[in-house]
Amino acid sequence: MNIPLKVTLIAGGVGGAKMAEGFAALDGVRLSVIGNVADDEEFHGLWVSPDIDTLTYSLAGLIDRKQGWGVADEGHRALDVLRRLGQNCWMSLGDRDFGLHIWRTMRRARGDRPSTIAADAARAFGVVPQILLPTDDRVQTRIRTDAGWITFQQYFVQQRCEPEVREILFDGIEAARPTPEALEAISDADLIVIAPSNPLVSIGPILAVPGIEDALRAAPALCIAVSPLIAGKVVKGPADRMMAALGMRADVEGIAERYRGLADLLVIDHADEAMSKQVGAHGLKAIVRDILMPDQANKARLAGDIVQLAGSWRAA
Ligand code: GDP
Ligand code: CA
Repeated sequence: MNIPLKVTLIAGGVGGAKMAEGFAALDGVRLSVIGNVADDEEFHGLWVSPDIDTLTYSLAGLIDRKQGWGVADEGHRALDVLRRLGQNCWMSLGDRDFGLHIWRTMRRARGDRPSTIAADAARAFGVVPQILLPTDDRVQTRIRTDAGWITFQQYFVQQRCEPEVREILFDGIEAARPTPEALEAISDADLIVIAPSNPLVSIGPILAVPGIEDALRAAPALCIAVSPLIAGKVVKGPADRMMAALGMRADVEGIAERYRGLADLLVIDHADEAMSKQVGAHGLKAIVRDILMPDQANKARLAGDIVQLAGSWRAA
């Protein structure tokens, strides 16, 4: 195996960041993470990029570990002021976090590339892995509920994922162009990993950027996906309910179906071992490991397992 091993991780927010922290902890790995921008939304005139910030804060060691998102040791005084001024403040934004959103918005208004802004933020926070955007164009997830179309944050935060999801679209996706950095990270990787992130609204909008999925299919590297579902349930979040509501199987077979032709291996939990054959029927080889990452040791252990799998796959 090449040292350093170039690992490119396709990742959403919380589940993606856990996997990223695992690879970042390994010696001999050079990690690039392609994150999701379709959860981005404007609040109080500021451009907020929740999934990219979760990656940045996690890899910088600043994340609120209990929540899995946001900065630890946060205050909410800025939000108190906005509330007093009559702003609707259902989106929780901390004081330290506001600083990043102010700076990002300033740079976007100046015409800087969102990719450059994300890279500069990561560097300023001391993040070593590369954080890449799939596109610099504006792509935003919209969710159709029985009450009509809403933004992703309205669904996820304001309505706490309560409405049934009828349809998902990525506004702006047809015109979006992939970034050269993301394409290069895919074509140049020694190993591509699809993180245990929501396949519909985290991985989905990355793959949907025209050119990204083709690049993945064309890439010479082995592609390993990690299931976000264990025994048909999410660790956290709405992925299982969303999949079921949209007529997909909400289990590892549904994940295998989604990543058919893209991933070579699907890492599933011991709890799902009995479904290995169904996973195989979609052309992915099921690999059984402990895929729960409650702490740093387990993140690094799972990342190590994946690197080892890639090594033995190549040797075989
Ligand atoms: P979001 O953008 O913050 O919603 O986060 P992601 O889309 O990256 O990740 C959400 C997914 O991560 C959910 O479907 C969870 O089931 C999954 N997840 C969270 N923690 C773990 C874990 O420790 N192991 C695995 N396998 N999946 C996890
Ligand atoms: Ca997200």
